[in-house]
Amino acid sequence: MITPVPVPSTPPTGGSTGAARGLPRVGTGVDVHRYAGPGDPATPMRLAGLDWPDEPRGLVGHSDADVAAHAACDALLAAAGLGDLGTQFGTSDPAWAGASGAALLAETARRIEAAGWAVGNVSVQVVGSRPRLGARRAEAEQVLSAAAGGPVSVAATTTDGLGLTGRDEGVAAIATALVVPAADLAHRAHPAHPAGGDA
Ligand SMILES: [Zn+2]
Repeated sequence: MITPVPVPSTPPTGGSTGAARGLPRVGTGVDVHRYAGPGDPATPMRLAGLDWPDEPRGLVGHSDADVAAHAACDALLAAAGLGDLGTQFGTSDPAWAGASGAALLAETARRIEAAGWAVGNVSVQVVGSRPRLGARRAEAEQVLSAAAGGPVSVAATTTDGLGLTGRDEGVAAIATALVVPAADLAHRAHPAHPAGGDA
């Protein structure tokens, strides 16, 4: 006789209830937007929370197409078990049409905090040829960190001429985020308070 394997009533995946388990969680986010073409309306470049007025063409998207900020949002939402940008903000929702990446990141941080998490850190890697992030990396990190309410580091690379970013069709970004249970962070911030007894 085969005994069915019992299914746990609260599987340790997905939902934001993970904050109660007391463990930090990581999440990954990826985003890609294409450069504006001849048929597109004039599109300013927005990337990594910054305006790039010297860039001849921007990226096309429902909001400002800031791949770095969007990847950071997706990574944070995944870490907190809150889905992704599409489920949280909706690509057809006019309320977020044209929204800046920094505004989306700030609202994402607010939502993960409401779910019991605090931003540990976010690491974003931008993949593309233009704009050149290097000279303004510190500025980008400052803007995105302020929006996220935690440290956001930004790096940039190219794909040696290969793929959609190598062919100058668009820009991609990959992000990893760490979130920690907010209660855990509060204990560390106030070490005078006993950390025990919270079972
Ligand atoms: Zn996007």
